[in-house]
Order: sequence, then structure tokens, then C-alpha cells
Amino acid sequence: MYEPVWRHPKSLDEAVAAIADAGKSGRVIAGGTDLAVLIRKRVLRPDVLVDLSGVSGHAEITIADGRVEFGGLATHAEIAAHSMVRERAGLLAQACAAVGSPQTRSRGTIGGNVANASPAADSVTALAALDADVRILSVRGERIVPIAGFFKGPGVTTLAGDELITGVSFDLPGADAKSYYRKVGQRNALVIAIVSIGATFDPGTATVRLAFGSVAPTVVRARAAEELFESEWGTSTDRPALVKAVARLAVEAASPIDDVRASAEYRTMLVESLTASSLEEMCLRN
Ligand SMILES: Cc1cc2nc3c(=O)[nH]c(=O)nc-3n(C[C@H](O)[C@H](O)[C@H](O)COP(=O)(O)OP(=O)(O)OC[C@H]3O[C@@H](n4cnc5c(N)ncnc54)[C@H](O)[C@@H]3O)c2cc1C
Repeated sequence: MYEPVWRHPKSLDEAVAAIADAGKSGRVIAGGTDLAVLIRKRVLRPDVLVDLSGVSGHAEITIADGRVEFGGLATHAEIAAHSMVRERAGLLAQACAAVGSPQTRSRGTIGGNVANASPAADSVTALAALDADVRILSVRGERIVPIAGFFKGPGVTTLAGDELITGVSFDLPGADAKSYYRKVGQRNALVIAIVSIGATFDPGTATVRLAFGSVAPTVVRARAAEELFESEWGTSTDRPALVKAVARLAVEAASPIDDVRASAEYRTMLVESLTASSLEEMCLRN
């Protein structure tokens, strides 16, 4: 019978000490919605489980000086329901509302979603479009990394074995900023994305951010498409045509595969059509 040793730290300092002490045989557990599945399937059997659920203050959501900060334990349900997030970073509220079922959203955490590094992770697609930073702690100290550089491949991050995600933060978009999130799946709920898009538009600076899930080994940004938009939007005399050109260019960021959920060809088509829809909604409609 599988009987891991449980550690129940009460503070972040105790948590990182427990992770360091457990070494390679240890694993952090937050909501358990990903990890418990792997343990049940016998894919993973850590000797030590460091349970973060009792860590004080680790689930807080704070907004100060125009910066939003989620503690690693903030759940999808809490983020989706947060009034300021809904108002000013609607794409993230929508992404969190699209995760699994109500049960998954009330247990699953943002720290777990980021650490799990699925290319289909809903919150990550939105966080990539928001240029979020990931706050990381270990007994060796703290480091903060842009989310764009955090992922190396499916399930693989730059996180060392003794490091903990303590939070995720980003600049709160301005009151006139627009955002867009869509997840295309085989049905409307409790589904892994075939393709997801998180997008933002800041009319003041004429900048867009376009991020995609499930089209590459990690969530990706369509930077060439963003640059084309930014260089042409202000002077364009045919903005609908520019939107189409940006959407065509966004496809270059994707390197999709055929899998059980969809073909690479369908995913490529979705990247173009979702980009066009997002820009039409955010930039062309008043
Ligand atoms: C039925 C079902 C449906 C789902 N649907 C979706 C979906 O639609 N979209 C989606 O994106 N995800 C989905 N998921 C996946 C899952 O719910 C999310 O990834 C969730 O956010 C994971 O958070 P958690 O707290 O449960 O992580 P856990 O399961 O506790 O941990 C996941 C991994 O992250 C590590 N970890 C957790 N917290 C930290 C931390 N703070 N620092 C460092 N490492 C950490 C753990 O060691 C483990 O490796 C689904 C899962 C289930 C079971």
C-alpha cells in the first residue's frame, strides 16, 4: 500500500525547508487535482508529500499600485469570481472559469496550473497574454521569471526540484483595455482545449498580445503578428484587412500536432480564425 510521509508546513519558509529536506523523493501538493490523478494511476509515487494547503496567506489575491498578485494557492474559482480581475483582466477570469468542473475549479490552484506546465493549461494562456511574472522561492532565496521563459516543454519548467511557486503577478490592464479568451474543445465544458487563445488590446499604445494554448509544446505568443499590428495599426487605412493579415501571420507561432482531439490542420485553421475574431471584437467594434 502507498503510504507517503505527509508534511504540513504553516508558512512559506517552513514549506521550502520541507521541500529541501525531502529532496528528490518529495513532491509539493496544492489542490491535488493533477497530482492525485498521477498518484492514483501509479505514474508518480513520491515518498514525501509537502501539503501547501495550510500555508498562511498563500491564497491571497492583492491589487496594489496597479499590480495584481495571486498567491500560488489562489484557486481558479476565486480568480474567476474576483470583481477587479473580471473587470480589468477579463481574459484571465474567463480562462479560470473554463477550467474543468466546479469541483476542479474550487480545488485547483493557479500555482498548480503553472507548475504542471501543460501546453493546454487555461490560466497560462491568459497569463502569457498578460506578460505575467512567476515568483519562485527556495531555501536559496527568491527569483522572479517572466512566464514566457518559464516553460521548456510539456510538463517541463525551469523550476528546480526544491523550488516553490509562491505567486503570479502582472500589471493591471488600463480601464480602456480590451481582452479576449476563447477555448475550443470537443464540447463546451469539462474539456481539454483543442486550441485556446488569450488576447489583450491597449488602445492607448495600440499594442496587442496574442497567446495560444494547445498548438505547440508550450503555450506560445505570436510575437511577429503582434509586431505587425503595432507597426501598422496607427496608420492603417484598411484596418479589417490588417486584422486578416495579422491573423494569417499568427499561424507562424503555432507548431501543432495531430492527436486524439484534433488534427494539426484544424488547429492551424483555428489559430487564424480565433485571432481574427479576437481582433475584430477587441479592436474593430466600439
Ligand atoms: C477532471 C479534471 C479536469 C481538469 N480540467 C482542466 C482544464 O479544463 N484546464 C486546465 O488548465 N486544467 C485542468 N485540469 C488540471 C488541473 O485542475 C489544473 O492544472 C490545476 O490548476 C492544478 O492545480 P492543483 O492545485 O490541483 O495542483 P496539484 O495537483 O496539487 O499539483 C500539480 C503539480 O504542480 C506542482 N505544484 C503545485 N503547486 C505548486 C507550487 N505552488 N509550486 C511548485 N509546484 C507546485 C505539484 O507538485 C504537481 O507536480 C483538470 C483536472 C481534472 C482532474
